[in-house]
Amino acid sequence: MMNADEFRRLGYAAVDWIADYHTLGAQGPVVPQVKPGDVTRSLEPHPPLVGESGDALFADFKDKILPGITHWNDPRFMGYFPCNNSLPSVLGEMLTAGLGVNTFSWITSPAGTELELLVMRWLGEMIDLPWAGVIQDTASTATLCALLSAREQVAPVNAEGLRGQQRLVCYVSDQTHSSVLKAARIAGIGDENVRVIPTHPVDFSMDVVALERAIDEDIRLGHKPFFVTPSVGTTATTAVDDVPAIVRICRARNTDIWVHVDAALAGSAAILPEMRWLMAGVEQADSFVFNPHKWMFTNFDCTAYFCKDKNKLKHALSLTPEYLKTDVDDVAENLRDWGIQLGRRFRALKLWFVLRSFGVEGLQEKIRLHLALAQEFATRVKDHPRFELVGNPRFNLVCFRLESDMATETLMTALNATGEIFVTHAKLGGRYVIRVSFGQTHSGWDTLEKLWSLLGETLRRQPQPA
Ligand code: PLP
Repeated sequence: MMNADEFRRLGYAAVDWIADYHTLGAQGPVVPQVKPGDVTRSLEPHPPLVGESGDALFADFKDKILPGITHWNDPRFMGYFPCNNSLPSVLGEMLTAGLGVNTFSWITSPAGTELELLVMRWLGEMIDLPWAGVIQDTASTATLCALLSAREQVAPVNAEGLRGQQRLVCYVSDQTHSSVLKAARIAGIGDENVRVIPTHPVDFSMDVVALERAIDEDIRLGHKPFFVTPSVGTTATTAVDDVPAIVRICRARNTDIWVHVDAALAGSAAILPEMRWLMAGVEQADSFVFNPHKWMFTNFDCTAYFCKDKNKLKHALSLTPEYLKTDVDDVAENLRDWGIQLGRRFRALKLWFVLRSFGVEGLQEKIRLHLALAQEFATRVKDHPRFELVGNPRFNLVCFRLESDMATETLMTALNATGEIFVTHAKLGGRYVIRVSFGQTHSGWDTLEKLWSLLGETLRRQPQPA
C-alpha cells in the first residue's frame, strides 16, 4: 500500500502533470481515437491480488487511461456545454479529497456546512439573488429537489403516497432539458402529465400564450397545475424564456404553482452587470439553478441551487432518524435536509478557492471574453455566403447550418474527424444544426481563429452545392 513518502513523490509528479495539462492543453487529438472496448481491452480484467506500486498506477494512467480521455478542458473542445475547470478549483478538490469529510450534518463538519452556506450567499450577491442556496451535484438533482418541493406544496405525497389526489400537471417547453422530464418520472408525476409547450420558431423561447392556454385547460378539467420550468439558456440554443410573463401567468391563477428557473449554463453570465437582464422575474419565481461546473471554472461537480423559501425545500426532503439527531439541530443547518442524498461531498471548498482566486472581476473578464468570442463567431457566420445562423445567440453558444441537413452533418463529421476541434449538434425546428460553444478556461481569440480556418478548410474539401 502507498506510504506517505511514495504519496509525496507521486503527488508532486501528479501536480506537475496537472499544471502542464492546464497550461499546455491536450497534446494530441481533443477526442480520443479509440473504439468501444479498446480501453477495456488494454486493462487487466481481474483485480490484483497483491498491491502494486504507485509508479505502476501513474504509468498506467498515462499509457492506458489518457489515450481514452476526451479533453473537455482543452479550448478546442466546443461540444455540448463547457464543463470547465481551473487550478484553484483543482487545489480545493485535492484538499477536499485529502480531508475526505462528509458534510451531511453541521456536526459532521461545521466548516463544511458554514462555508457552503457562505459561498452560496456570495454567489447570490454576485447575481443579485437574495435567497438561501445549497450546492447540489448536478442541475438534474436540483431540478428534482424543486419538483419534489413543488409536489409536497400541493399534495402530501411523502406521507400518503401517490393515491387519489388531483392529477398533478407540470409544464415545460419543447426545448426544456430532459432532466425535468426525468424528475417528473422519478417524482411519480408521469410523462402523461408533463405538458410540452411549443416554442417560437425563430428564437426557440416558450410560447407563453400557449402556456397560459394549457394551464387554463388543465384547471377547467379539474387538474392541478403545480410546476413550470422556464429556461434561461436552453441546451440546444441558449434560448431565453420570458420568466416575468411566466411568473405573472402562474401567480394570476394560483400562488402554489412552483416556478423553477433553469439557467444551468447561462446563470454564470448574470455576474456581469450588462447581462443581469437574464435575472428578470427570477425573484418572483420559487427556485433557480445554475452550474458553476459549467461556466464558472469549478470542476465537476458543483451546482448552485437557490430556493426562495428554504423551509419548503426542507419540508419536502428532511427526514431525521434517531441516529442522526444532534444537540444543535435547532440552531444549525444540516444540509442533508436540503437535498436528496445523506452523504455529501465538501464541494464548497473548491468553489471558495475559485471565487477568491479569480475575484469577481477575474470571473467577469473570462465570461465577457467568451461572450465576445461567440458574438464575433456569430457575425462571421451571418456574413458567410453558405452558413445560416440559427437562433439568437446571446451567450457563449452559436448554432449554424449549411443549406441541407446532410451537408451540415457531413461538415460536422469531417470537422470532428480532424481531431483538432470537437463540436456537437442539435435539431432545431427539425433541422440539423452544428453547435459551437466557447467556454473553456483558456479559450481565446486564437481558439476562434483556429476554428474559423479549420471550418474554411473543411468546407473547401466538401462537395459544393449545385
Ligand atoms: N439544464 C440545462 C439547460 C442544461 O443545459 C443541462 C445540461 O447541459 C442541464 C439542465 C443538466 O445539467 P446537469 O448535467 O448538471 O444535470
